[in-house]
Amino acid sequence: MKIADVLKQKMTLSFEVFPPKEPVPLTGLLDALDNLYRFKPDFISCTYHAGGDRRDRNMEICRAVRKSGHEIMTHLTCIGNTREDLHSFIGDYIDIGIENILALRGDYPPGWNGTRGDFAHGQELIEFVQDEFPGLCLAAAAYPEKHITAPSLEGDIAHLRIKQEKGAHFFMTQLCHDIRAFERFTDKARKAGIHLPIIAGIMPVLSRDPVIRMTFSNGCSIPAELAVIMGKYEDDKAGFKKAGMEYTVKLIHRFIDMGVNGIHIYTLNRWEDVAVIVQDAGL
Ligand code: FAD
Repeated sequence: MKIADVLKQKMTLSFEVFPPKEPVPLTGLLDALDNLYRFKPDFISCTYHAGGDRRDRNMEICRAVRKSGHEIMTHLTCIGNTREDLHSFIGDYIDIGIENILALRGDYPPGWNGTRGDFAHGQELIEFVQDEFPGLCLAAAAYPEKHITAPSLEGDIAHLRIKQEKGAHFFMTQLCHDIRAFERFTDKARKAGIHLPIIAGIMPVLSRDPVIRMTFSNGCSIPAELAVIMGKYEDDKAGFKKAGMEYTVKLIHRFIDMGVNGIHIYTLNRWEDVAVIVQDAGL
């Protein structure tokens, strides 16, 4: 089923997983997925890592989710990919029944300063897929606090507008711990003519160092309410986790109250913590 059709009916709930690196077996993730299915997600998304075994594993996970009868959206990037490569990968995805793709530029591997592929930006991949495989449902990435390399939020939103014009069906956002920033972004995007559904990407707040690392590497802010938790539980991992999970639940409620089109939880393949958050949020 196309996610765009589900978004016309309801607010979606979805989970993101990533393919573990070899030699970590896939069984742990498959078990995590079985546990996440209990929450009846509208779809699962699986990240894409350029080249090598993790691409194969992305395919394996997509196949397993499809086999279980659940909807899957694969991520796909321009990194190192020619048109022919992308044509062939997408053909493989279609062969296993995939109808939804998150079309991304991708993060440059260390030492790269371009995609080293035929497309330089997400919008070009979206246009290519629309032209070659017009039946697919396409998602595009959005950045509530702007992409870390974008000179301004307005400029970044102008590029989102191009993704919309090239045929994206909905947007999915980067993590954002700050509801005010998310509201400002949505307001500006709507005023700039972005009419597509926007699904909020939510990174559970579970431990202090990853929160710092992820927010810094993505150029996101840490709002005062979260900073207080970080200060209060600096040396108390269990206390931090409890307060962080409560913060995450509150954030989910705030996103729902502001009318986002979907809640997408970056599970980090940790279903136990995510299960508690989903239950506490009443999703
Ligand atoms: P683009 O849309 O190309 O944007 C990147 C930057 O270029 C922005 O600053 C934009 O404003 C600017 N820009 C866009 N078009 C132009 C233009 N024509 N001229 C000049 N500048 C332009 N990465 C992975 O490798 N694998 C994943 O599975 C993955 N999953 C993700 C899931 C989500 C929900 C999100 C939000 C991100 C994900 N990423 C993933 C990270 C993503 O690949 C990076 O953020 C990447 O740096 C940008 O991808 P994009 O598609 O947004 O790029």
